[in-house]
Amino acid sequence: MLSKSSKHNVLNFSGGVGGAKLALGLSRVLPSNQLSVVANTADDFDHFGLHISPDLDTLMYTLGEVNNRELGWGLDSETWNMLENLGQLGGETWFQLGDRDMATHLLRSQYLREGLLLSEATSKLCKRLGVTHEILPMTDHKVRTKVQTKKEMLEFQEYFVRQRCVPVITDIHFDGIEDALPQECFEKRLKDPDLSALIIGPSNPFVSVDPIISIPGIRSLMIDSDAPVIAVSPIIDGDAVKGPAAKMMRELNMSVSCSAIAEYYGDLLNGFVIDERDAQSAERIRNSGLKVLVTPTLMRTIDDRIRLATEILNFSLTIY
Ligand code: GDP
Ligand code: CA
Repeated sequence: MLSKSSKHNVLNFSGGVGGAKLALGLSRVLPSNQLSVVANTADDFDHFGLHISPDLDTLMYTLGEVNNRELGWGLDSETWNMLENLGQLGGETWFQLGDRDMATHLLRSQYLREGLLLSEATSKLCKRLGVTHEILPMTDHKVRTKVQTKKEMLEFQEYFVRQRCVPVITDIHFDGIEDALPQECFEKRLKDPDLSALIIGPSNPFVSVDPIISIPGIRSLMIDSDAPVIAVSPIIDGDAVKGPAAKMMRELNMSVSCSAIAEYYGDLLNGFVIDERDAQSAERIRNSGLKVLVTPTLMRTIDDRIRLATEILNFSLTIY
């Protein structure tokens, strides 16, 4: 099915929960040497002296099939004894740290203190989790999302978790982005003449995908690449499946629709994937010069993830 093309290396950009669903589907269809997943690291933060990488963790746990399906994040069979004790002792408990999950944060933080790069620490953890597909942090440099709200500037996790995305946002910044270099393998994969598709998962465009494409040089490498760039809409039928994407769009004075997402990515894209419920928007998006795939994009089951991944890969073959 995918043998029509001699090129076969796929690069997938992902945030956490939404992006990881598609990444899992892709990982079931493509062998390890044909898929690299690039993770947003602008959500990373320091908490109790530990380096926490929420999107990397979600990807590692999902591809390692140890993710917590009820919660949608974290590890399966999680317990919360440490957090309970932390609360009893008067510590901050707004960021949920599971007992099992703590092992990841402890070890990653130790690796970083010992001088390893975030990408090296990630690769060590992935190996132990049995993740064979490459998961790359977008950069080994420190980039941190700051959300400007009507009232104040907030650190991303402060906005996202502690204040549950309630404050009205007016702007989003990525601190440190000007000096960030793309992670070495990420840049190499993006420049690979055998790259067959770049797939932007249905992640939040403003806080999950934007940090990745805002790393200096990435946007032009994407545009110059011979591989088609395809994004999946996180907006279905005028709403986000989960999280603040729709709320952010309203606050940023955008209409909440899949076509607004396509417009937002603009000339970065060659193809766009929208849900069957948004079929009526296809023509408008096609008129802007994009190829459009209309298909069910809500991923509930593992079969949904595999089917969507397969359809997107086939769609990518029709673009050039
Ligand atoms: P986060 O880092 O955990 O916030 O995750 P992402 O940024 O990767 O994904 C969040 C986005 O995924 C949200 O805007 C959701 O609307 C979208 N999303 C979640 N599940 C699905 C799904 O099954 N299908 C589609 N099309 N979008 C989804
Ligand atoms: Ca995230």
